[in-house]
Amino acid sequence: MHCPKCKNPISPLKVWLITRWSPLRCDRCGASLTRAIDRQFFIISVLMFAGLFLLIQTPLFLIVWLIVVMLIDAYTVQLVLDREGPQ
Ligand SMILES: [Zn+2]
Repeated sequence: MHCPKCKNPISPLKVWLITRWSPLRCDRCGASLTRAIDRQFFIISVLMFAGLFLLIQTPLFLIVWLIVVMLIDAYTVQLVLDREGPQ
């Protein structure tokens, strides 16, 4: 995962800190980054909700499933500049 502005490498695990309201800040150029709402985001959302729906009766499997999906997410997410924040 790289900053789309300066190509500074960013730890994939930091993607979990991104929310709709709190973008990630690049350590090097200070750009405000958020996740791209693309096909990857759609697939991850479907996997999350499918897991919640199918595994709600077995919390242990549900937790394992959510961790696996979040790991896949962290290594496949695309970062984009946050247009609402300062650039
Ligand atoms: Zn940067």
